[in-house]
Amino acid sequence: MEEIVYYYPQGHEKHFQSGHPERPERVETIVKALREKGLWDGYPKVEPRPLSPEEISGVHSISYLKELEGACRYGESLDMDTYTTPYSWELATRTAGGAVSVAEAVWKREAKRGFALTRPPGHHATSKRGMGFCLLNNVAVAAQWLVQHLGVQRIAILDFDLHHGNGTQEIFWTRSDVFFLSTHQSPLYPGSGYLDEIGYGEGRGYTANFPLPPGSGDQAFSSLLQEVIIPLLDRYQPQMLLLSYGFDPHWRDPLGHLQLSAKQYGEMIRLLSRWCDAHCEGRIALFLEGGYDLEAAKACTLAVVNALLGQPFEDPLGPSPREEGRSWVRVLEQAKQLWQL
Ligand SMILES: [Zn+2]
Repeated sequence: MEEIVYYYPQGHEKHFQSGHPERPERVETIVKALREKGLWDGYPKVEPRPLSPEEISGVHSISYLKELEGACRYGESLDMDTYTTPYSWELATRTAGGAVSVAEAVWKREAKRGFALTRPPGHHATSKRGMGFCLLNNVAVAAQWLVQHLGVQRIAILDFDLHHGNGTQEIFWTRSDVFFLSTHQSPLYPGSGYLDEIGYGEGRGYTANFPLPPGSGDQAFSSLLQEVIIPLLDRYQPQMLLLSYGFDPHWRDPLGHLQLSAKQYGEMIRLLSRWCDAHCEGRIALFLEGGYDLEAAKACTLAVVNALLGQPFEDPLGPSPREEGRSWVRVLEQAKQLWQL
């Protein structure tokens, strides 16, 4: 079994808009950093599974897929933030297929861990709408594939991006076979992800949100993970953990005000990897979402990949120079009460 398998979005540099923060350098910086540390060459890269619109229709409506394909043909933006280019449809479908291939390789234990450099990112894309730089919801397509084609019955998606994964939440809102958990800065774009958003109908109790006030950092993440998130995973017992990995909670990120360090990011992935080793045969895979500071991209990615591989990491950027706020303590207490922990 391989230690780790990657997906790299071949040709992704053709998806760009001048001056936009969601730019090709994000992925290229990550690859360069991994390569320099010997964590890229020598590890397998999956081919993306080709996906037809019908095969994505468990996640996105056919009408949205048609609309997206049409918008890409003319390079029309979906909204103020979300550009497309004539190449974006092909890239987005290939990338969703790359997410599927990584998830499948880890599920089948061809590789112990997976890391999909999914670009464009996905977690804001809802069933009927692309938004927030996201066209197709890669992690949701991967989860749906595992359920529909590989018979997986319980998947947890943990979203550590700075922003709430509103799209992933909406897609699995009424389902209990995919447990969606998200930490994010609040208030912030897209304006959702409050504590009391916990799913609906059969999905009630299978969505968990942890909105963190600006200024929350390493202590907030560490406490939430150990006191709430891991106990919720213990309770749910997922067969695989999919992780929406944004490096924008890092203290250097220009779009956010969380103060997470790369070192603490790595520690969280280390703990989660160990949890997966103990409970689901080590099945954990990461899917790239947001993050806009290239130094943070390097440091956080080296931290999380070393953690996946069980190797040490030294943080070149160190902790946030600003003092961490304490108002997250109230969120932690409320979350523990709500989830009866
Ligand atoms: Zn983000």
